[in-house]
Amino acid sequence: MTERRHDLYLLTPGPLTVADEVKREMLADRSPNAEPHRQLTGMIRDYLLELCNGRASHVCVPVQGSGTYAIEAALHTLVPRDGKLLVVQNGFYGLRLREIAEGMHMPMAVLELPMLPLPTAADIDAALNADPAITHIILCHVDTGTGVRNPIGEVAEVAARRGVKLLVDAVASFGAFPIDVAALGLEALITSPNKCLESVPGIGIVIASRAGLEAAAGRSPSVVLDLHAQWKFFEEKANQWRWTPPTHVMGALGKAIERHRAEGGAAPRLARYRRNWRRLVDGMRQRGFATLLPDEAAAPIVATFLDPDDRAYDFQKFYAAMAKRGFIIFPGRLTAAGTFRIGVMGDLVESDITLILEAIDASLAEIGVARFTPKARRAVA
Ligand SMILES: *Cc1c(COP(=O)(O)O)cnc(C)c1O
Repeated sequence: MTERRHDLYLLTPGPLTVADEVKREMLADRSPNAEPHRQLTGMIRDYLLELCNGRASHVCVPVQGSGTYAIEAALHTLVPRDGKLLVVQNGFYGLRLREIAEGMHMPMAVLELPMLPLPTAADIDAALNADPAITHIILCHVDTGTGVRNPIGEVAEVAARRGVKLLVDAVASFGAFPIDVAALGLEALITSPNKCLESVPGIGIVIASRAGLEAAAGRSPSVVLDLHAQWKFFEEKANQWRWTPPTHVMGALGKAIERHRAEGGAAPRLARYRRNWRRLVDGMRQRGFATLLPDEAAAPIVATFLDPDDRAYDFQKFYAAMAKRGFIIFPGRLTAAGTFRIGVMGDLVESDITLILEAIDASLAEIGVARFTPKARRAVA
C-alpha cells in the first residue's frame, strides 16, 4: 500500500497541497510591528531577492493580496503615464494581463498569438516595429491555464536590444524555474507564495528594478497598489508593513522558505516536479489520455489532458468522483476548452502520483468510462 501523505490533495495549479508544518505556522498570532515579524519580513525579502540574483540591481516588495494584485501594482507603478504597454497574449494568463491593463485604461498594444508555436524574437521585434510608442512589454512565463512555458530569455534579449522594459508574470514559475533578473535585465518579476514556493495565498511579490522603482515616486494612481510607497515604507521602517499584513501568511511563508532552502533551492525542486509530472503524464498516456501540449512546450508543473471521447465521460462527474476520494482536479481554461488539468506542484512526491492514478482509475470506473481511444493531439490555436 502506498502511504497517503495528505487528507486532501489540492491538484489545482495554485493554491496547492501544502506541508503540515507550513500550515501549523498559521496557528501563531504575530504582532506585525514587533521585531520578530519585521525580521521575518526582512528574511523573506532577502531570500526571494537572492533566489533570482537580484541583490545588486533589484528590490523585493511584497504587497497584500494575491498574485494579480502584485501584477496590477507593478503596472501602476512602473509604467509611466506617457508610456505604452505591449501585452503578449498567447494563453489564459496573457488574457488576464490584458484585462488588467485594459481595466487601468493604460495605453496598450496587444500581440495576440496562438498558444503554439511559442512566441519568437521575430514576433516581438515585429510588434515593436509596428508600434514605436511601446516602452514596456509584459509576458507570462508559465501559463498555468495551458501549461505552456514562454521563452522569457528570447523576449528579454529583444527588449534589451530595443531599449524596451520587460515585466514578467512569473507567478506560477518562480521558486522552481531558474530566473536571473539581473542577467535578463527585468524591470519586474511578479510572483506569489502559493505556487512553486509551496506556501499559502495572501500576498503578492514584486521583484522590481531598483532604478525603475526609484524613478516611480508618486506615479501610481492607486494608494494601496503604490509599489514605490510600499517599498519606501519597508526601507524606512525596518521591514514594517505599510498597512496590516497577513501575519499568518507571512509565518507560513517563512517556514516554506526554510523548506525551500532545505530542499536545496530551485533546481532540486524543479527536478522533483519533473519526476512527478513524468510519472503522471506517462501513467495517463498508458490509460489512453492525450496531453494538450507536446512535452517540449510543457512546463512540468501542470499537465493538461484532453477529455476522453467516451460518451460516459462528463467533467463534473469525474471531478466529483475524484473529490470524494480527496483529490481536487481543475477544469481547462477557456483558452483550452475540452481539457482538464492536474497540477504537480506542492508537497507532492512520486508516490503521491501513484495515488492520483489509482484514484483516476477508480473514478473513471465509477462514472462508467471503461475504454476510450487516445485522441490525436488536436491542432491547437
Ligand atoms: C496563479 C497565477 C496568477 C495569479 O493569480 P491569482 O488568482 O491572483 O492568485 C497569475 N499568473 C499566473 C501564470 C498564475 O498561475
